[in-house]
Amino acid sequence: MTKSPRTLPMVRLALLTFLLASGVHAQEPPPATPLPVTGPAAAPAPEAPTPPARVEGTRIDIESQLRDAMNSGDPTKKKLNLLIDRKSASGSLAPGSPPPLNPVDHLQREPGIVIRQQRAAPKPAPKQAAPVYKNIPWSYEGEGGPGHWAQLKPEYTTCASGQRQSPIAIEDADTLKGPAEAIAFNYMPSSGTVVNNGHTIEVQLSGDNSLTVRGQTYRLQQFHFHHPAEERINSRVYPMVAHFVHRSDAGQLAVLAVLLEEGPANPLIQKVWTHMPLDVKDHVPLPADLIHVGEILPRDQRYYQYMGSLTTPPCTEGVLWLVLKQPASISAEQLRLFSQLYPHNARPVQSLNGRPVRDALLIAPGGRP
Ligand SMILES: [Zn+2]
Repeated sequence: MTKSPRTLPMVRLALLTFLLASGVHAQEPPPATPLPVTGPAAAPAPEAPTPPARVEGTRIDIESQLRDAMNSGDPTKKKLNLLIDRKSASGSLAPGSPPPLNPVDHLQREPGIVIRQQRAAPKPAPKQAAPVYKNIPWSYEGEGGPGHWAQLKPEYTTCASGQRQSPIAIEDADTLKGPAEAIAFNYMPSSGTVVNNGHTIEVQLSGDNSLTVRGQTYRLQQFHFHHPAEERINSRVYPMVAHFVHRSDAGQLAVLAVLLEEGPANPLIQKVWTHMPLDVKDHVPLPADLIHVGEILPRDQRYYQYMGSLTTPPCTEGVLWLVLKQPASISAEQLRLFSQLYPHNARPVQSLNGRPVRDALLIAPGGRP
């Protein structure tokens, strides 16, 4: 059963007049206490109510907006949600005038109109201030420096909150000493590209290069350099380190660190520096099969082993670190060339937080100490 559409315009007009006289607003501040309302419309609002249509402006604006809303579409199907501001409604009554019709009772007679009480909003719980991230690139000094990495982007929070971060200071007195399996290196002549990525010089390699340790094979992705070395070994700081970043098929990272001390020129580094890109984001492709990573490996391949992280943002943890104890050599001239581009690109050492560091005193048969 529905009311004849012809009776609607008059009802709507009376309703509109009443609403405007009694101060109906949309999106006004909620009353402190709900209006006394009876009938089905007084039922509590659902948890996620449809937001009421927003009506704003002067009284004339509101009048015309309401009229438009009422006149459009099929009125028997129209659902108009109105919020009633109690203060405005009572304030519009002259002293001594008769109490108005209960606005809700009145409106309920109009099909398609639902009056919903705007209930007092619960007091919001005091919120912790959301962290503000600086929109600057990470670097090794100033506002974007290592002490601020976690404040630069939400993805970098591990740089501050992580408990297994790299690099670390390794002291022989604190390590777990014992025999260890040899790292099986499977490197071969490879092609690649030298990249100046704005943080270091990096060689991205193609070719099937890998190492195997702890029953897992990790494929070499790239290697890069830090000046000075990030790792500190028995309080000694080496002038440079090369990091060889490997990844297993399961996605675990293993980084082989080869420390570099000043001495004769390094043949592998010579090849890379010969194709050194000078500008940031510059790429220089290497001649085919130029790079054999095995060239830089020291003869003594005993190593320290510990679990740590990337030493650059996002400082992801779960990285297996293999730090060869015997350094390779780099010439003063080779060091100078790199340090002209990157005078200091090393993260400070991080807290061990009780992590064990294994110290391979001997390599099991098959190694070549
Ligand atoms: Zn590195």
